[in-house]
Amino acid sequence: MEVEYLLVGQGVAGSVLACKLLERQKSFLVIDNPDLSNASRVAGGLYNPITGRKMVKTWEADALFKALIPFYQQQEQRLKASFFHEKPIYRPFFNQHEQNEWMGKSAEPAFQHFIRAVHQRPYLPDWLHNPYGGLMLNQSGYLDTKTFVSTLRETLIKRGNYRHEQFDARQLNVEKGFTYGDVNFDKIVFCEGRPTVGNPYFEALPFSPVKGELLFIRADVEIDEIINRGVFIIPLGGNEFKIGATYEQNKLDEYPTPQGEEELIVRLKKLIKFDFEVIDRKAGVRPATKDRKPFLGEHPYHKGMFIFNGLGTKGVSLAPLLAEEFLDFVDQSGELNPQVNISRYFSLF
Ligand SMILES: Cc1cc2nc3c(=O)[nH]c(=O)nc-3n(C[C@H](O)[C@H](O)[C@H](O)COP(=O)(O)OP(=O)(O)OC[C@H]3O[C@@H](n4cnc5c(N)ncnc54)[C@H](O)[C@@H]3O)c2cc1C
Repeated sequence: MEVEYLLVGQGVAGSVLACKLLERQKSFLVIDNPDLSNASRVAGGLYNPITGRKMVKTWEADALFKALIPFYQQQEQRLKASFFHEKPIYRPFFNQHEQNEWMGKSAEPAFQHFIRAVHQRPYLPDWLHNPYGGLMLNQSGYLDTKTFVSTLRETLIKRGNYRHEQFDARQLNVEKGFTYGDVNFDKIVFCEGRPTVGNPYFEALPFSPVKGELLFIRADVEIDEIINRGVFIIPLGGNEFKIGATYEQNKLDEYPTPQGEEELIVRLKKLIKFDFEVIDRKAGVRPATKDRKPFLGEHPYHKGMFIFNGLGTKGVSLAPLLAEEFLDFVDQSGELNPQVNISRYFSLF
């Protein structure tokens, strides 16, 4: 088999790249063993322009959000499936000071298009703690990452672009062009998420993976918006909600824990006043990095060998724009943002 690209891994990173390769009519094969890492199957999938406890505009938000909405809408059309849910996100204010601050910021051109409304009084039903009102965001929502990845996989299988197997770097021949088993290719892109089986070519990169846990609850309340402060509450329909997420850097397994559940329930109860039943729990590990910026670029010694990884806590919003810029870089028709280029770590190789 001869292809231009071999992609290793098909989580959100490999999926978005594969969609871009389809758009560019490039030949490629994906080798993926989904059992090695489940971040993209359990993610909250939020895309949110104003994030964190301090509510700051997310890195490169203007460019990222301009790219992501049309991208996922096009993939829904291509795959004839529904997985992209545009929804306002409501962020209650902690205090009067925050309310005043956002009244000012909402008029600034840098924030205007991300803000639907600044609520100065409690908004939504009386089961939500929001005495100071809150910020209602625009250009926000969530990607059902599990459905996106699995429907794309079915399409790739039908087209002969996908092999379900574990990539073993020891079998990669890098001497004369690239070969792996019966496949010859010009370029290889590693999109393996957090390091699991080990990749000798990029092991120098300082990953700093972060485990996250989620709950699924059922409650007799109705709401259309996503609520996000301390925890996120994503309405899934049918009185079911996804609640997340925790951050844990020491135990990096994919098992939900009683401590994780307890932490989420405590945080949830600070935000809401209704009764609920926990119906499921999930956990996964985010492929985060020491400097919290993605790892994109070409290996310093092996020309044609690339990495597209390190999407951390924000894979959904980062991937569409970065994949476009990455493929331009691979085709030598564009530059990578130095903040994401792995050349910043070449001294470690
Ligand atoms: C609890 C939780 C909540 C999250 N919430 C959000 C959120 O709200 N918004 C957001 O944007 N992001 C969120 N994330 C982060 C998001 O999940 C990641 O940014 C994104 O999924 C990373 O995708 P990836 O493709 O890089 O990695 P992965 O999803 O890990 O995919 C890598 C793929 O490669 C495969 N693989 C690895 N090695 C090999 C090999 N040697 N051979 C074959 N296959 C291999 C793996 O099995 C997997 O299929 C969350 C993550 C967690 C855990």
